[in-house]
Amino acid sequence: MPDKLTAQPPINKERMAENRTEIADLGEFGLIDRIKNNFSIQNATSLRGIGDDAAVIDIGTENLLVSTDMLIEGPHFDLSYVPLQHLGYKAVAVNVSDIAAMNGKPEQIVISLGLSNRFSLEAIDMLYEGIRAACKNYKVDLVGGDTSSSGSGLVISITAIGRAAKDKTVLRSGAKANDIICVTGDLGAAFVGLQVLEREKEVFKANPQMQPDLEKYEYVVGRQLKPEARMDIIHELAEKNIVPTSMIDVSDGLASELLHLSKNSKVGIKLFEEKIPIDTETYNTAIEFKMDPITAALNGGEDYELLFTIKPSDFELLKNHADIHFIGHTHDNVNQNVMISKQGTVVPIQAQGWKHF
Ligand code: ADP
Ligand code: MG
Repeated sequence: MPDKLTAQPPINKERMAENRTEIADLGEFGLIDRIKNNFSIQNATSLRGIGDDAAVIDIGTENLLVSTDMLIEGPHFDLSYVPLQHLGYKAVAVNVSDIAAMNGKPEQIVISLGLSNRFSLEAIDMLYEGIRAACKNYKVDLVGGDTSSSGSGLVISITAIGRAAKDKTVLRSGAKANDIICVTGDLGAAFVGLQVLEREKEVFKANPQMQPDLEKYEYVVGRQLKPEARMDIIHELAEKNIVPTSMIDVSDGLASELLHLSKNSKVGIKLFEEKIPIDTETYNTAIEFKMDPITAALNGGEDYELLFTIKPSDFELLKNHADIHFIGHTHDNVNQNVMISKQGTVVPIQAQGWKHF
């Protein structure tokens, strides 16, 4: 019996070989741009399509927000150290975070699962325990999904649906020159936490008798395993009647997200290294791993904090907020995205490429 590959018509094989372009050559964002450019919008209700944290759909008095994110065993998580409850929670939180990034309120999720017989009913119960905890915390309803078999790994794809008032929907594209750049919480912890977990896994593999001592790394490991979407900040901004001029959540690292705001808003970014919030445990652990803590903050990712810009006149209302940090400002030269280092040197802001290819 020929296998599936050899059974294919050779002409296809040759055509593939001649025209083959590696996805890695385009990168994730190049690929998304290419998909976007090959489609045009046909319905006036599709206010924003590809290119923001969520799609924006006109439903009359308000906007509907739709966002989807997939977590795949291997590139996104390793079940040897990720508890299934945490995974379920995280899968919801990362989707809620994208709705938050539009200044929206999430209301429903649908979940698609790819499963193999490696997973028992008890395992799926644990996954859904985490999903249920997140649904309760973020006040979202699980309203559907799909279940299918997968070759071996676990795949969780979640779509979140939310709403935002028409005049309060925040895009990546609304920043003006001289807006103040704000970021919530602290950055780099989730990436550093991942390094700790990977190291402990290797230690355990070499000597299964060794119990990992994670106490010293509680914060960074917690940030990797159980991130929270910053809906608290969205509620606080609403209470203060502040609508950010642009917003994005930090899933790929501060540098990459700043460049998205720059490109979409057509403004330049001036970032001050000394203003970037980094927790002491993140700082010390990064140093232990011989890594520059700033690199973890700029390129680490998975922080799920909110990065947004405000009009200078809104600064007074936020300046004493304990968990919002003012890290720079925008300016009118879109081609000049720079960080002023602690030594005062000017460093270009660069995003790292796609990690998974
Ligand atoms: P985020 O990090 O906020 O989840 P992404 O970088 O994953 O955003 O996606 C950016 C934009 O590209 C979003 O509008 C998303 O819906 C869209 N997108 C991503 N992958 C695809 C795809 N395969 N086909 C169509 N649109 C996509
Ligand atoms: Mg996002």
